Amino acid sequence: MEKGFTITYEYGENLYVNTTNRCNFNCEFCLRHNGRGGSIYTHNLWLEREPTKEEILADIESRDLAKYKQLVFCGFGEPSYRIDDICWVIDQLKSKGKKPFTRMDTNGTGNLIHGRNICPDFAGRFDMVSISLNTDTAEKYDALCHPVQTGAYEAMKSFAKELRQYVPTVMMTVVDTIPKEEIENCRKICEEEIGAVYRVREYIED
Ligand code: SF4
Repeated sequence: MEKGFTITYEYGENLYVNTTNRCNFNCEFCLRHNGRGGSIYTHNLWLEREPTKEEILADIESRDLAKYKQLVFCGFGEPSYRIDDICWVIDQLKSKGKKPFTRMDTNGTGNLIHGRNICPDFAGRFDMVSISLNTDTAEKYDALCHPVQTGAYEAMKSFAKELRQYVPTVMMTVVDTIPKEEIENCRKICEEEIGAVYRVREYIED
C-alpha cells in the first residue's frame, strides 16, 4: 500500500472504504484537524490523491468480504462527493454476485454538493445510511460544522427524510458529549420529524 493511500481498512467488525479527502464542512471536532488521521484507526487516512473507482473496486475485491458485517463507504472527508463512483463500485460487486451489507456515513448534504437530488441513487445499492445530525438547531449546527453552503442544517434534514424512501435504514447520530436536553431534542427531530433511527454515539477521542 502506498503511503497516504489507504483505500480500505478494518475497524471493529466492518470494512471501511476511504473515498475522498474533500469536504464542504469544517467541523470543530473533525479528525482532520488532528494530524493526518493516524491515531484513531492506526492508518494514515489522508489520501495523497483520490483513488479511481477501479482502484476502489480492486481494493475491496482484495478483501474477503464474508469476514465483515458491513462495507462502509466513508472518507477522510465527505463520501457523497464520490456518489457516482461509489454506485458504480457497488453495481460491479453486485454484478459479480457479491452482496455485502452496504452503508454510507455522510454529513447528509450530498444534494447541496451536487445541486441535484442524489437520494434515488441509493435505491437498491445501500442497506443503511448514517447521517450526522450533530445538534438540535441550525445556529448551533453552523457554529459547530461551518458548512460552506447556507441552509445546510435544513438541507441535511430534508435529505434524511427523502432518503427513507430509498434506503431500508436511515440512521441519524449525535455524540454523547452534548447536554441531555439536546440529546432528547435531537431524538425528537430524528424519530418524530424525520422518522429515522436514532443513535447516540460514544465520543471517541482522537
Ligand atoms: S463532515 Fe466529517 S469530514 Fe467533513 S469536516 Fe465534518 S467531521 Fe470532518
